[in-house]
Amino acid sequence: MAEFLHPKKLPPRYYGIAMRAYFDGVHDLDQYVELYFDQTALPGYGWLFPIGNGMANVGIGLRLDVARRNRSHLLQAFDEFVNDPRLVGRLSHATLMGRANGWLLPFASQRRPRACAGMMLVGDAGAFVSPLTGSGIYNAMETGRIAAQIAAKAIQANDCSLNELRKYEVKWQEVLGKRFRTEATLQMLLGWPGILDLLIRQMKRSEKLASFVLDVL
Ligand SMILES: Cc1cc2nc3c(=O)[nH]c(=O)nc-3n(C[C@H](O)[C@H](O)[C@H](O)COP(=O)(O)OP(=O)(O)OC[C@H]3O[C@@H](n4cnc5c(N)ncnc54)[C@H](O)[C@@H]3O)c2cc1C
Repeated sequence: MAEFLHPKKLPPRYYGIAMRAYFDGVHDLDQYVELYFDQTALPGYGWLFPIGNGMANVGIGLRLDVARRNRSHLLQAFDEFVNDPRLVGRLSHATLMGRANGWLLPFASQRRPRACAGMMLVGDAGAFVSPLTGSGIYNAMETGRIAAQIAAKAIQANDCSLNELRKYEVKWQEVLGKRFRTEATLQMLLGWPGILDLLIRQMKRSEKLASFVLDVL
């Protein structure tokens, strides 16, 4: 369906690739989410999300153009992260639960139509992944909710024309558009290592800035 509306892929900077796996028996887990940066992979990052009982979701997300520039194969980059000196000690006795999964993330910075006559695209199909964090669950649920409201009215009026479904474009822009634009700008800025260092230094000094950044994340 998405390919019908978007037959052409956009340049790689409009996509991320990510891979994650669950581990059991991770050492030294706190209740905090941990993010790891590497100068050559910015604005991408690695993460460790504790999920309780010594288990964690561990993964990496990279912008596709950066991964290609570094000639980085996703599985290899994931293996390197898991064996990174900052993590390896904590994962050395952990067991991999299932297998690592990875796929493509179409960022919401893509300027594309998300509706045509008889169809609205939500979630990843509609390229609604947050450009800064690569997260998409909330956006998928929110765009699904908006599309359902528009669809219910269109069906009631027996009018699923583009004219009617264009209301979806207006509504998702109204609800999520500003955040996506902010995130796309931050993603671009964080591609520069000096800016990330500066931001972290400033966050240490300003609680207001720190809570703004954490809010966005
Ligand atoms: C490694 C990784 C880690 C991530 N971590 C996070 C995170 O921590 N937090 C976060 O918010 N987001 C995260 N994301 C992004 C998030 O997973 C997606 O943005 C989100 O799942 C999108 O939801 P969706 O419903 O649009 O698509 P999906 O979750 O992909 O669901 C689509 C469903 O449709 C099914 N389907 C496909 N084709 C057909 C068909 N023809 N007929 C019937 N069914 C079909 C699929 O099997 C699938 O079940 C991560 C992504 C990756 C790759």
